[in-house]
Amino acid sequence: MSDKDHWCNSGYEAIDDVENEYAERGGEDGLQRVYLKAGEDIVVVFETDEPFGIWEHQVPISIPGQKTNWRNWFTCRKKLGDCDLCGSNNSYYVGFYIVRDMTGWTDRKGNQRGVGERRLFPAKLKTLKQLKTISERKGGLKGWKVMITRTSNDAPNVGDLFDFDSKVDLSTLPDCGELPDLKEIFRPKSNEEIKVVLAGEIMGNSGTTEEDPVNY
Ligand SMILES: [Zn+2]
Repeated sequence: MSDKDHWCNSGYEAIDDVENEYAERGGEDGLQRVYLKAGEDIVVVFETDEPFGIWEHQVPISIPGQKTNWRNWFTCRKKLGDCDLCGSNNSYYVGFYIVRDMTGWTDRKGNQRGVGERRLFPAKLKTLKQLKTISERKGGLKGWKVMITRTSNDAPNVGDLFDFDSKVDLSTLPDCGELPDLKEIFRPKSNEEIKVVLAGEIMGNSGTTEEDPVNY
């Protein structure tokens, strides 16, 4: 192919790059949410002690012939008194921790990727209660290396079995810069902005890799 054809790819070489690009694009500000399938586990290190809590909507978008897209999260505006989503979609309370993914993922060439990267760890009420109890016992979560397993389909997507391993010196982890400001990341969009985002998703549904509802 000539240089001016760089908008397309011939052959399979691009697959890993594309996979990487998708992985890096992530969700909120490039921060992907921890998501486990039943039976999967992940090793994380907690970078924050306390959850950052909000009410949130997850709006599924179904287009005939495509998998339902569940990756549409919006901070609920009910505490501001004017949430348009509340009429048709139940919001839930979720607390976000920031963790480092010490497991990563394996690309098609068998290379380990993403180890040490930051992730959002979204904990719904049941998980928050569990982590509160453990936090009290451990004197906080920050710095703890934990193996987390999702034991079944009914279990939260972030896992339900927490095996606390050891405390890690956070300065020994790959440098990811300052902690992101979750208040900025989750600042509620206006009702108008939400409408625009949802319309855009419906128009240009880019497909999704998840078919399960996310029940943390
Ligand atoms: Zn709402």
